[in-house]
Amino acid sequence: MKKYVLAIDQGTTSSRAIIFDINANIVSSAQMEFSQICPKSGWVEHNPIEIWETVYEVLKEALFKSGLRLRDISAIGITNQRETTVLWDRRTGKPVYNAICWQSRQSKDICDDLIAKGYEDMIHQKTGLIINPYFSASKIKWIFDNVPGVYERALKGDILFGTVDTFLVWKLTNGKQYITDPTNACRTLLYNINTLEWDQELLDLFGIPNCMLPKIVSNSEEYGIATKLWELDDSADVPIASIIGDQQASLFGQCCFDVGSVKNTYGTGCFMLMNTKNRPVFSKKGLLTTIAWKIKDEVEYALEGSVFVGGSAIQWLRDGMRMFQASKDCEEYAKRVETSDGVYVVPAFVGLGTPYWDDDARGAVFGLTRATKKEHFITATIESIAYQSKDVMEVMKEEAGIRIKTLAVDGGASANNYLMQFQANILDVKVLRPKCLETTALGAAYLAGLAVKVWKNKEDIMKNHTMEKIFLNNIDEEERNNLYKGWAKAVEATRVFK
Ligand code: ADP
Repeated sequence: MKKYVLAIDQGTTSSRAIIFDINANIVSSAQMEFSQICPKSGWVEHNPIEIWETVYEVLKEALFKSGLRLRDISAIGITNQRETTVLWDRRTGKPVYNAICWQSRQSKDICDDLIAKGYEDMIHQKTGLIINPYFSASKIKWIFDNVPGVYERALKGDILFGTVDTFLVWKLTNGKQYITDPTNACRTLLYNINTLEWDQELLDLFGIPNCMLPKIVSNSEEYGIATKLWELDDSADVPIASIIGDQQASLFGQCCFDVGSVKNTYGTGCFMLMNTKNRPVFSKKGLLTTIAWKIKDEVEYALEGSVFVGGSAIQWLRDGMRMFQASKDCEEYAKRVETSDGVYVVPAFVGLGTPYWDDDARGAVFGLTRATKKEHFITATIESIAYQSKDVMEVMKEEAGIRIKTLAVDGGASANNYLMQFQANILDVKVLRPKCLETTALGAAYLAGLAVKVWKNKEDIMKNHTMEKIFLNNIDEEERNNLYKGWAKAVEATRVFK
């Protein structure tokens, strides 16, 4: 019996491949960074061919390191940076422009125009999203408007659009499979989360022809054989059996299967998702409604909120403020004082995300006294990550009408014990840090493994889900309320100063 699943995790700055065994242990992994192309301020692009080449390289390296052959691999699962947009020629496979990264703001004018014309409500009801350059549709239109001839070729059916998952599957199957899944489709602004189909009205609004859209498949089924890998090793036909956007993959990898279960990923920014099962909850306070996954015919939804500056506030302390050498050193400083002593840092370096959506806010520090030391400043910055995450969770609780008892955590900054303890205190929930922090890759592996019966069902998967550490609240309600009131005042004051 084959016992291994290979996951490809195609992220914003690097591509990774990880091979998992049946107990969800990592057998081998490989990682490669690729270029971030920034032609102008606020623009971020990638070379799609370079993305593909790094994926192929890490696949090879992970296989080589594991000592396994393709005949030992049951299936491949793919998870990817969402929204990033690739357009390529159906015949030659050549991209017509760079991949426009989710972070890129170059299509802002297209979005502003649609907002001015009053399309926000209609788009929100259909997609669960807001009109923003973040999502794919305005990026496609931007390529049409700026790369001569592409629109005409698209009309003739010569151009294909894909998010990164689609491009990778197309490459791995030598152009045979042209597909995407609901978790990626629902981030394009072209997909209707109620009907679960591409939406004609939205396609017309952005001027996008139907013939350049991939077929939408479920998150866990055999889509086709990765024939490209025969170049490496022809010992077996390995099916690609899952594709899923990175944040939804981590929700699955964290086994957030019950209604109201929540995960928060503490990376550069923070992404919090709550499973709302079969009910799409439409937010009035800036949360996004998204598809969590579709398995067989069953669709589950999630609410999503994001903090723009999470772990990158720690990078700022390290590189901008030059307060320490390595990100992990910040915990030592926090341990020395155990409190921020009334200091609040609001790291609104690029505005504020959920629930404020304030593009113009900028960072601020409050509560300084003659007794304030570097240690307090660092501690307050760590705490700001927890406060911002609480801001998101408060809105989730309110809008979903669900009481939250636990928070599953992952991402680089979740290694920080001070931050995790403070998070448990300020939220009054149990913070659960799993043994395997590669939850994104693991989520894709689980879904692929489910399709080919490496795991029978969710219960079977949950047996692998073990905790490394659990953080319990250790402050009383009065203290928690006072701390959070201080944060609320700091944010308010920050937003006044523009
Ligand atoms: P991404 O996937 O967004 O690149 P990662 O999940 O790799 O991010 O996390 C990296 C981020 O976490 C960096 O911003 C870094 O400053 C922060 N970080 C890493 N270790 C710690 C730590 N021990 N305490 C606080 N922040 C940390």
